[in-house]
Amino acid sequence: MNRFVKQYRCTICNTCHGVKEVDGLTCPTCGEQGILDVLYDYDAMKKIVNLDYFKQHKDLTMWRYAPLLSIIPNRHDEMLETGWTPLHQARRIHEHLGVRKLLIKDEGANPSGSLKDRASAIAVLDALNKKQQTLACSSTGNAASSLACHAARMGLSTVIFVPKRAPLGKLAQLAIYGSKVIAVDGDYKQAYALSKQAIQTYGWYNRNAAINPHLVEGKKTVALEIAEQCDFKPTDWIAVSVGDGCTIAGVFKGFFDLKQLGLIDHIPRLLGVQSKGCAPFVQAFHKKGTLVEAEENTLADSIAVGIPRNPVKALSAVAESKGHWIAVSDEAILEMMVKLGSTEGIFAEPAAAAGLAGVRQAVAEGIIKAEESVTFIMTGNGLKDPDNARKAVRPPTLLKPSLADLKKHMENIGEQEHAQGTFWPDLS
Ligand SMILES: *Cc1c(COP(=O)(O)O)cnc(C)c1O
Repeated sequence: MNRFVKQYRCTICNTCHGVKEVDGLTCPTCGEQGILDVLYDYDAMKKIVNLDYFKQHKDLTMWRYAPLLSIIPNRHDEMLETGWTPLHQARRIHEHLGVRKLLIKDEGANPSGSLKDRASAIAVLDALNKKQQTLACSSTGNAASSLACHAARMGLSTVIFVPKRAPLGKLAQLAIYGSKVIAVDGDYKQAYALSKQAIQTYGWYNRNAAINPHLVEGKKTVALEIAEQCDFKPTDWIAVSVGDGCTIAGVFKGFFDLKQLGLIDHIPRLLGVQSKGCAPFVQAFHKKGTLVEAEENTLADSIAVGIPRNPVKALSAVAESKGHWIAVSDEAILEMMVKLGSTEGIFAEPAAAAGLAGVRQAVAEGIIKAEESVTFIMTGNGLKDPDNARKAVRPPTLLKPSLADLKKHMENIGEQEHAQGTFWPDLS
């Protein structure tokens, strides 16, 4: 345990528990629902973590933030390099969105291609500390593929529960990383329920992000980085897509920590983006009520979460940052995938592109103002889901290897930006 960790606070009953009082991962009184938040002694942390610390620290990975994490990352130097992903300034797409400035945090540059690597790397090091050999989780895809990736590197094994609709790229990753994959003949909710029973039965390390408070701490490193990469003057808004709610909770926590340490003067407003086909947070926000289970009816698989597992942290992250929730259609997501790829050279999976589609809609609705600046967290690489990418674009053209045929074709398409092809290689 990091020496700056003071207590755990239950997000349901608000009771603070001493570190030694908590045996499992959740609140001893509230059980499974009692997701814990890690509380730090910021006064003590301040003495170590200040501007000088960041100036002098040479490690350009997420582990440069080790003093702000809840686990001791022994052996992190043996891990695949995770974090310190690029923060690009948009060159063109901000004009299309109608904002003054857009920064793109490219989490696709992590080892397994998504932001989930930040949480999975923590899980693997925590399991090593606890001498556990097998890790398990249920996942819409990225939590699993990132866990399998980091566990493989460190010689641990993984058992993964995925809903049967998980996209091909993610399933391929799992198989290549050598994971035991159980594709559950059901949706994410059902995959989650089975993983929970299995973890209890077999005593595996639990990497279900909502339940395990250390994982949100890992995810917060994305916010710590964004702030540092902006010289501790982050943009007005941070936009990110939301499924279970752990990512946005982590983003808030990172900025919250920096505010407590006096390194930033305000927390950026958070824009939580969901797909219209599965938007329980957006509904709860507009009805000012509690979360109601939603259908999982979207092609953005990573945010197709009908029963979010981290509702309290996610709702309060947006509320406390004076942010907003918004839902976007699958069509808007696909359109934004193409726009982002073709104007900035960045390929996002649908769930990631949803965040940017949310920015456009928030600008259209006057929630984000034209003179404001935005950081969009691009949460996952588009290569993970080629099938949905195909839906967003026209197919390539199939031609005989003949210059004459090519010339005819070039004349036909003329000034059209995209060729009207009809050919897709068979992926099945
Ligand atoms: C998991 C994931 C999200 C959402 O994160 P939650 O913690 O489930 O809210 C968004 N985008 C991608 C690509 C993801 O893998």
